[in-house]
Amino acid sequence: MDAVMVMGNSHLAMSRKNRLAIIASHSQESRFLYPGKHWKMGSFVESGDVSSAESNSCGSKDGKYELLAIGNDIITEEIKDLMAKTEVRAQLTETLLAGSLAKALCYIYKVNKELEVGQELNSRILVIKAAEDSAAQYMNFMNVIFAAQKQNILIDACVLDSESGLLQQASDITGGLYLKIPQMLSLSQYLLWVFLPDPEQRSQLVLPPPVHVDYRAACFCHRNLIEIGYVCSVCLSIFCNFSPICTTCETAFRIALPPVMKTKKKKPKLSTQNYLTS
Ligand SMILES: [Zn+2]
Ligand SMILES: [Zn+2]
Repeated sequence: MDAVMVMGNSHLAMSRKNRLAIIASHSQESRFLYPGKHWKMGSFVESGDVSSAESNSCGSKDGKYELLAIGNDIITEEIKDLMAKTEVRAQLTETLLAGSLAKALCYIYKVNKELEVGQELNSRILVIKAAEDSAAQYMNFMNVIFAAQKQNILIDACVLDSESGLLQQASDITGGLYLKIPQMLSLSQYLLWVFLPDPEQRSQLVLPPPVHVDYRAACFCHRNLIEIGYVCSVCLSIFCNFSPICTTCETAFRIALPPVMKTKKKKPKLSTQNYLTS
């Protein structure tokens, strides 16, 4: 969290026009750490349980820019509160990343709408990920990625633990950077050197080379990541096993199967000739 705050502070300090939002993506909740509930349109709202308890420690004791000091205090309080309110379940290692990304997109959309005419915001999302990939969220995740691509929002991924195929796809599709950092101790350095520069500045830097993207998709039947599978030619749903009827759009496939009883029924209107294999 220290490294994240250092990066957030640097981003805000780089330009007065820069904006920042931090969302925590936890196992049961995704929530805004900054701007938090006690933050209103650039000014800290003094009344409220967090600020009244902490009002003495808020502000700059050490000569730090006040905005940053207050921001850091809000983030710390919010994450403490989040951790305290989350039930600990040992086996649960997935987080609600797709939901958090959707939240981020909505926030960007809202901020863009509030801009005055002529102003423009180049937004990007950085995902700092320590959890496992969640194949169950594959559909939602990909929908968010394509929405981001349409809005020209980069998604950068800084991976702390195991490689993430989903985030590799996300950064590849949106033109962001993907990096699994070699050592945790230097996290703030990687954040500042690799992820802080905006896309324009990046073209002038020598950044870590692009990774090989794991483009496996999750089957819609079991949410397993598969390399080769069956694709419904009507709705593009992916399946690991052959099924004569698509479970998503209920298309019946006419495919060379062992002869079944002859029926005099009309052919189904939406039938397709065959499966395409990917
Ligand atoms: Zn399956
Ligand atoms: Zn289908």
